Amino acid sequence: MLSALQATLAGEPALLLGFAAVFGALIGSFLNVVIYRLPVMMERAWEDDVAAARDEAAAERPTFNLLTPRSRCGHCGHVIGALENIPVISWLVLRGKCSACGGAISARYPLVELGTALLFAACAWKFGATVQALAAMAFCAVLVALTGIDIDTQLLPDQLTLPLLWLGLLFNTASLFTPLTDAVIGAACGYLALWSIYWLFKLATGREGMGYGDFKLLAALGAWFGWMALPVLLLLSSVVGAVLGIATLLIQRKGRHTALAFGPYLALAGVIVLFFGERLRPF
Ligand SMILES: [Zn+2]
Repeated sequence: MLSALQATLAGEPALLLGFAAVFGALIGSFLNVVIYRLPVMMERAWEDDVAAARDEAAAERPTFNLLTPRSRCGHCGHVIGALENIPVISWLVLRGKCSACGGAISARYPLVELGTALLFAACAWKFGATVQALAAMAFCAVLVALTGIDIDTQLLPDQLTLPLLWLGLLFNTASLFTPLTDAVIGAACGYLALWSIYWLFKLATGREGMGYGDFKLLAALGAWFGWMALPVLLLLSSVVGAVLGIATLLIQRKGRHTALAFGPYLALAGVIVLFFGERLRPF
C-alpha cells in the first residue's frame, strides 16, 4: 500500500509536489500552535519548579498543552471551528478577521502555513518520493517552529533543538545526508564552535552575543550535514544575520545593544545547506 503510493507519487511529479504542499500547510497549521503554546508551557513549568523548590503548592490551572484547549480567537474567545481552520484558505476567506467579533487575526498564521507548504514542496522536488524527503520535511518543520519561537521570545527550546540533533544522528546511521562519523564530529564541533565564540566575545566585551540554544542548534545542524558543512553554516548565518540585523535596527531605530535573535539566521543557513549544500561545501 505504502510502496504503491510511493510508486504513484514518483511517477507523477506534479501530484507529488501538490501532495507535499498540502501536507506542509497542515503541518504549518500545527507549527503555529507550537510557536504560540510551547513558550507558555515552558514558563508554566518554570513557575511550578520555583514553587516546588520553595515547598509551595503549584498553581491550579486548566490543562494547557499542544492539543488542549481548542484554538480560540484572541479577542473574543470564539472557538475556531474546523471550517475556519483550513490552512491559508480560511484566513483569506475571512480576510484576516475573526468570524464572531471581526478582530484582526495575525497574518503570521497563513504565512507560517504557506512557508511550510513551500518548504515541503521543495523537499519533494529535491529528494523525490523518498525517506530522505520525509526526513528533510521533519528538519524544515522543526526549524520553522524554532524560528517563530526565537523571534517571539529569544529562546530556542531544548524540547526542539535536542530532538533535532538526535534525529540527525539517527537518520545518518543510514548515511542519509552524511556518514555517521562526520555527523557525530559535526554535532560536537558545532556546539564547540559557537561556545568558543561566545566566551571569546564575552571575555573581550563583557556582553553576551548569543545564547546556549544557538550552540545546540548549530550542533543539530552539524549532526544533519556533518562537520564539513559548519564553515558554510557559520558564514551564511553571519552574513544574513549582519544584513538583516542592520536593516532591522535601522527600521526599528533601536540602540546598537539591542539583543538580536541569532537562531532564525542559523535556521535559514540550515535550510540553504539542505537544498544547495553539495554546491557550497568547501571539502
Ligand atoms: Zn473574535
